[in-house]
Amino acid sequence: MRKFHLLASSLLLSAGLSHAQVMDFEKYDPPSTLVVPEHHLTRSRFPFIDVHNHQWNLGSGDLKGLVKDMDALNMKVMVNLSGGNGHSLKQMADNVRQNAPKRFIIFANIDFTGIGEQGWPEKAAQQLATDVKNGASGLKVFKNLGLSVKDNTGKRVAIDDPRLDAIWAKCAELKIPVLIHAADPKPFWSPMDGSNERWLELKTHPERKRSDNSPAPWEQIIAEEHRMFKKHPHTTFINAHFGWYANDLAHLDKLMQEIPNMYVEFGAVIAELGRQPQMARQFFEKYQDRILFGKDSWQPDEYTTYFRVLETADEYFPYHKKYHAFWRMYGMHLPDDILKKIYYKNALKIIPGIDKSLFE
Ligand SMILES: [Zn+2]
Repeated sequence: MRKFHLLASSLLLSAGLSHAQVMDFEKYDPPSTLVVPEHHLTRSRFPFIDVHNHQWNLGSGDLKGLVKDMDALNMKVMVNLSGGNGHSLKQMADNVRQNAPKRFIIFANIDFTGIGEQGWPEKAAQQLATDVKNGASGLKVFKNLGLSVKDNTGKRVAIDDPRLDAIWAKCAELKIPVLIHAADPKPFWSPMDGSNERWLELKTHPERKRSDNSPAPWEQIIAEEHRMFKKHPHTTFINAHFGWYANDLAHLDKLMQEIPNMYVEFGAVIAELGRQPQMARQFFEKYQDRILFGKDSWQPDEYTTYFRVLETADEYFPYHKKYHAFWRMYGMHLPDDILKKIYYKNALKIIPGIDKSLFE
């Protein structure tokens, strides 16, 4: 180690640089000297429903600690997208009903094992119907569909694979929404170099790097998803993470027009909205009836960034994860009537089983 430092020092000196002139990108994070109004919101202005959360431990325990943390944020309902299926889902739904009824909504997940075998589509659709009977209010499809799910012959299953049609149709029949996460941020497919906005994330999470044949081009996976949405116009889809188009709202606008059964939620992409407050506000005004509040990871202290971007006119405030965004945020300052739709009204409209009296 000492040897390395000596070597590094001599390299610096021979390049004519002092220690202060050399720094890692990760380290360079100066506090802003800008003096402007600041609103550190720890609670949302209106009660809200987080439609994108993951809790694996709702199946046991009294849930009191979690509910207390939700109350502090003004989160009335948490949608747990990790409900699984079968026995474990039923156990989760039962425990919630017993300990914190009204506060949690559970989405089921598909077990793709055996896809390709005779009768799989009917079996999967039937399991979903049972899960809904046991307490699920929706279906969550993880990114493994499109990225890693393979059929019984070892072939990648495309998102618009016809063997899945029975499931999407069943969701329309049961009047439950499908929240789906397809692919990942596009820069994960781009060269990992100085022009990649997610360079730091790829450095800290190297397993996230993808390429055109690992497993398929980004555009292809996204196109499969959109074709599937269009093929099932009676099914309501919630495209997670703004469908990875939060950085191109003009394109997302086009998709919203082409696919009227598609809603969006902004889990993990608030930093994209916070760097374009004008454009984002216009989008929220136009699609105020089709945007839902989502966050993804359960980190109570990170919600403040979401509240601030949505509610305030604050300028140049920090985001909480440098590997998502090395830039700063600006607030959209949305009016109350739009905030209420984003925070809970739109979710109440499309997710069954939520007690509306919590929001009166
Ligand atoms: Zn998620």
